[in-house]
Amino acid sequence: MKFCKKCVLPDTKPGITFDPEGVCSACRSVEKKHEIDWEIRSKTLHQICDEIRGSNGNGYDCVVPISGGKDSTYQLYVMKEVYKLKVLAVIIVPHLQTVEGIENLNSAIEFLGIDLIKVSVRPTTLQKIRRTAFFKIGNPNYAEHRVVFASVARIALFYNTPLVVWGEDIGVEFGGNVSESSSSGGSAEDLINNDLFRESNFFELIDGIIQPNEIFFYHHPEIKEIKRRKIKSLYLGFFYWWDGYKHKSVSKNFGFRGRDLGPLSGNIINYDNIDEKLCEIHKWIQFLKFGFWRPHDEASYLIWNGYIKRDEGVHRVNSVQYQFPEEYLDEFLEYHQIEERDFWLTLDKWRNKKIWEKINGKWQLKYKLV
Ligand SMILES: [Zn+2]
Repeated sequence: MKFCKKCVLPDTKPGITFDPEGVCSACRSVEKKHEIDWEIRSKTLHQICDEIRGSNGNGYDCVVPISGGKDSTYQLYVMKEVYKLKVLAVIIVPHLQTVEGIENLNSAIEFLGIDLIKVSVRPTTLQKIRRTAFFKIGNPNYAEHRVVFASVARIALFYNTPLVVWGEDIGVEFGGNVSESSSSGGSAEDLINNDLFRESNFFELIDGIIQPNEIFFYHHPEIKEIKRRKIKSLYLGFFYWWDGYKHKSVSKNFGFRGRDLGPLSGNIINYDNIDEKLCEIHKWIQFLKFGFWRPHDEASYLIWNGYIKRDEGVHRVNSVQYQFPEEYLDEFLEYHQIEERDFWLTLDKWRNKKIWEKINGKWQLKYKLV
């Protein structure tokens, strides 16, 4: 295991590659972003919006999937106020929301004057899928990824909206395979193809546990139907330099606020991923498997956007990375109906012993971030 020389991500991160100079593919993507003519990109998006504006009659011009965080508020602001589209926001409601999450979502909708559709999938089904995914693949949030993409595609079809505008382009931001389809106005495949799906087979996972009639919103609509309706799917991060800190500042104008009690355990900022309570332990398991989690992502973002130097990022990661996210542990156990003993035994199963070692009774990574 080694860490990038420019940011703080390790080579154990799925999908990342390192070049001979010890620099990761995510950093190389950021370097390329400096060469992009963002004015031209913005003009391109203006052209796309000009073409579709009003094409759905009195209906909506675009669907904007949101989570209720700072980036969501920013996306809604840009598509409504800058590009003047009639926006339909869609949220897959988290089952354990935080007070800040609820209030930030309500503020954004109210301040910006936007219609919102809430998709809240059947609790018993999601709970069963999450519990199975926790024990079988150590990825309790696995199902949510499916629900987001499938539900948004279904809603775009149902309301006949010609455009779907996502937030950051995972390919660009994380150094994966960059889809250039956004440049040509977005492809239908982008609406249902996503890196997150390749991890394991959903239907194998739920076989014998979930009935087929329980999971409508977990199923993608037919790709040919999306193509026939010519629905475009874009990432705003392709047209704008994605900067979470800036989004937080803009979103404050529309009622957004960070976590009142400061950063959660293991986090270095208080304004990201604060809308729900089930994801932190999901991310902690990622730490056990791959040796990085919230602080590594957060520090890398701050480095890429020029807010801190790598030295400070290293220091901040090292000072918080071993803090277990205990804030929501009790609710995590209760929600999934998991005994605490079974929880810890399962976590131990997911810990990658090739990169972790026990010193004086405490687990530590064998490889120190310096
Ligand atoms: Zn890097």
